Amino acid sequence: MRFNLKTLIKNFFLITAILVLSVSYTLSADPYLQKRQAMIEKDIKGRGIKDKKVLEVMGRIPRHLFVDENLKNKAYADYPLPIGEGQTISQPYVVALMTEALKLKPSDRVLEIGTGSGYQAAVLSEIVKEVYTLEIRKSLSDLATKRLKDLRYKNVNVKYGDGYFGWKEHAPFDAIIITAAPNHIPPPLIKQLKKGGRLIVPLGSTVYYQTLTLLIKKDTDELDVEQMGSVAFVPMIGEAEKRK
Ligand code: SAH
Repeated sequence: MRFNLKTLIKNFFLITAILVLSVSYTLSADPYLQKRQAMIEKDIKGRGIKDKKVLEVMGRIPRHLFVDENLKNKAYADYPLPIGEGQTISQPYVVALMTEALKLKPSDRVLEIGTGSGYQAAVLSEIVKEVYTLEIRKSLSDLATKRLKDLRYKNVNVKYGDGYFGWKEHAPFDAIIITAAPNHIPPPLIKQLKKGGRLIVPLGSTVYYQTLTLLIKKDTDELDVEQMGSVAFVPMIGEAEKRK
């Protein structure tokens, strides 16, 4: 067999050009892909999160579109970021940890208290059937509603209001996630949780840190409690503060 050096060189350049073009196309289509993959490998998988669905979904969702323009570059960093009104979008690892703990199924309907940026709701919405999320700050609720609509999250329902009372019309829920810290668990939320359902909450009375707590509703008034370590969340306001 004879090699034609000219053809060989031509083909080499052609293949290299195609490779360079396709890599740069992928990067320009999603300039945050590498950062997001690094976040998944190092901060999420690296710290013990195993739930395939959580890893897949967080590896896909454009977290940079849930923060302000000037913070986009830090969207995949290992810490919370400000989202306005003194509130924060949780650290990616904490989002993964809480989501995994809920052991979600595709048919589940989930209630979130504290919509914030809408990121946690987006993560949930790609795992379960329906997400209901409540936000007590009007400006954040409006912004998250618009953002989730623009990004076409059709199974996320956002409402402006105090999450302490839950969302009765859509109860009971298979799982409830509270993403602001109360010093007690709002009784209406336990009521709105299905038998066998799971509720996760940063529980505590200090503003500096709380204990991530998982409740499993065994029966109407029988709860299993598991403490999952320290976290730092913004306080739950409204009725939760009044009843301290
Ligand atoms: N899950 C959010 C981050 C939550 S930050 C995200 O993915 O971005 C906590 C949010 O809880 C804040 O936006 C705060 O305004 C909201 N919050 C505090 N108390 C609340 C209450 N009683 N009901 C509903 N939302 C509340």
